[in-house]
Amino acid sequence: LIQLYMPLNFLGIVYREIRQALTDIERMFNLLKTHREIADAPDARDLPGGPLQINFDSVSFAYDPERVILKNISFAVAPGRSVAVVGHSGAGKSTLSRLLYRFYDVTGGAIRINGHDLRGLKQGALRAAIGIVPQDTVLFNDSIFYNINYGRPEASREEVYAAARAAQLHDFIESLPHKYETKVGERGLKLSGGEKQRVAIARTLLKNPPILIFDEATSALDSATERAIQGQLEMAAIGRTTLTIAHRLSTVMNADEILVMSDGQIIERGSHGALLDAGGTYARMWTLQQQEDGNSGDGR
Ligand code: ATP
Repeated sequence: LIQLYMPLNFLGIVYREIRQALTDIERMFNLLKTHREIADAPDARDLPGGPLQINFDSVSFAYDPERVILKNISFAVAPGRSVAVVGHSGAGKSTLSRLLYRFYDVTGGAIRINGHDLRGLKQGALRAAIGIVPQDTVLFNDSIFYNINYGRPEASREEVYAAARAAQLHDFIESLPHKYETKVGERGLKLSGGEKQRVAIARTLLKNPPILIFDEATSALDSATERAIQGQLEMAAIGRTTLTIAHRLSTVMNADEILVMSDGQIIERGSHGALLDAGGTYARMWTLQQQEDGNSGDGR
């Protein structure tokens, strides 16, 4: 039996390796496909350096013509300021960030950066200007150094360490047996949700983009980790134009404007204090979340 077991076990390992490799290839092709769908206009322009302004002007969008996902969405994020979007699952929040990164084109209205329609910008320039900290960071099956360095491959080693320090990841990495050479990803060290998010923050800090998109993780982090990450995110956002897709209201209190979305529309908007005073959906969501968290309810 053992003679049969060994080769079968070996085949099992080979099978898992191939499947993993295929998953990576699939991801790559999916990315390439999304990139190819939208081509640069012949007279496409670059973006200026420095802080940038974002405008969503009466934006509508449907992934599939049968089902409209965003309806007439308008808002502005002034240079260096922050807007947060809240609302129940499926309301269309993450779709806003996909459109800003131009994974898809709007079906109505326009998204503009410094007054220029995204469709008239060079895609390379647009994507260089935006850093995304996604819900679930994809880690490459490579060293943790590579995974951070990916944010700006030409960065020096010192710059990678500085980004890791700013994301409060450096000490953790130094405590690993192989330090920055530790392999991570599916086949390496499995990082926790919070650690992965910190890798994404370090990557983004290294990239140093004028626009930031945070798509908050849905999975509940413990409150100490959440507070630590929140602090890092706020630090990373200083001086950058920031769009936060939020799942927890505690993380949006300081945003310049909060948009409450429901069913593809903005149903309320304002600062945290103004929305609480208005006593509408946001105020109810806030009370509910405070009760869940076991707090008193007045979060000013
Ligand atoms: P969550 O809080 O759960 O992340 P969300 O508010 O960010 O939700 P979106 O991810 O923007 O919601 O999705 C809005 C709607 O669009 C959902 O009903 C979803 O099923 C649909 N949708 C999302 N991505 C696609 C896609 N690639 N193709 C078709 N429909 C999609």
